Amino acid sequence: MRLEEDIKLDYSDVLFRPKRSTLQSRKDVNLKRTYKFKYSKNEWSGIPIMAANMDGVGELDIAENLAEFEMITCLTKQHDIKKIKKCKNIKKIFSHISLSAGIKKEDFENLNEVLKEFSFIKFICIDVANGYSEHFSKFVKSVRDKYPTKTIIAGNVVTADMTQELILSGADIVKVGIGPGSVCTTRIQTGVGYPQLSAVIECADAAHGLGAHIIADGGCTCPGDVAKGFGGGADFVMLGGMFAGHDEGKGKLIKSNGKKYIEFYGSSSDVANKKHYGGLSDYRSSEGRTVRIKYRGKIRDTILNILGGVRSSCTYVGAPSLKQLSKCTTFVRVSNQYNETFVE
Ligand code: 5GP
Repeated sequence: MRLEEDIKLDYSDVLFRPKRSTLQSRKDVNLKRTYKFKYSKNEWSGIPIMAANMDGVGELDIAENLAEFEMITCLTKQHDIKKIKKCKNIKKIFSHISLSAGIKKEDFENLNEVLKEFSFIKFICIDVANGYSEHFSKFVKSVRDKYPTKTIIAGNVVTADMTQELILSGADIVKVGIGPGSVCTTRIQTGVGYPQLSAVIECADAAHGLGAHIIADGGCTCPGDVAKGFGGGADFVMLGGMFAGHDEGKGKLIKSNGKKYIEFYGSSSDVANKKHYGGLSDYRSSEGRTVRIKYRGKIRDTILNILGGVRSSCTYVGAPSLKQLSKCTTFVRVSNQYNETFVE
């Protein structure tokens, strides 16, 4: 047994230290980034915030809204040719969507079919709960061999060693996060995880050293957390819970005591497993929660609120653009993040 003694941090363990700034207004902050990816050599420009490939979030109606802000949506694995054909604006939004696949044979077959018909889609997200298996790296390599010009996202991992391994196997972008998600129960079920801000800092450093990128996936509860992800060095920040509960996600609406809620569940929850795979196999346990979240109306308002927050973080630390945010970031460790006196 070995014990690592140095402290690892979550978003809630830090705040940005404000810095003297010459910026006049948050209006002047540029949130757009342009990246060129290591293997695909594709160039992408936009605001690097992503919707997670979860039911109620990684949906085409969400993608149409996010694309207006040049933000990316990772569609759920259930997006097959039939579903994508129904999207009239696919040719307009294609550069801001990613397909998703697990490592199951059916997933890969579906991916191949979709890419045959919609060959202009540029991102493939290969997504498993535990990105540490040798089998997974081999799978990433086989997808890279088949699709040399697609931008491949692979995850999830939380340490520098495995970030490097996935990049060397062919990933352009590594997805970082095990256990921080709003509807994730991995830490309770397995005791496995890594505080998200430290995971982001360490994996970003490893990826950037190899000319690749990372996504900080999960654990954001407010716009400040999104900014902290970027401040820690993330190239993209992926959101599940913060984008859930909106009209465009088409989740199940529940009315109770005159209030409206929307059902939201983890991709490995019982509900998701029943819906997509006819239930959980006996040897597995659910690692996701099902919750009711307050109905939040149109996603556009939420997007504007998040972008307003991130712009403001940039002005507080003197970063004229998102690109400069991590260079301008000094985090201070805190034991108390905010005053909860009037929080309901
Ligand atoms: P959030 O933004 O809601 O905090 O986190 C979103 C992320 O949680 C997703 O992108 C995905 O990586 C992770 N996630 C989604 N569903 C589940 C689940 O059922 N179990 C676990 N362990 N993680 C999940």
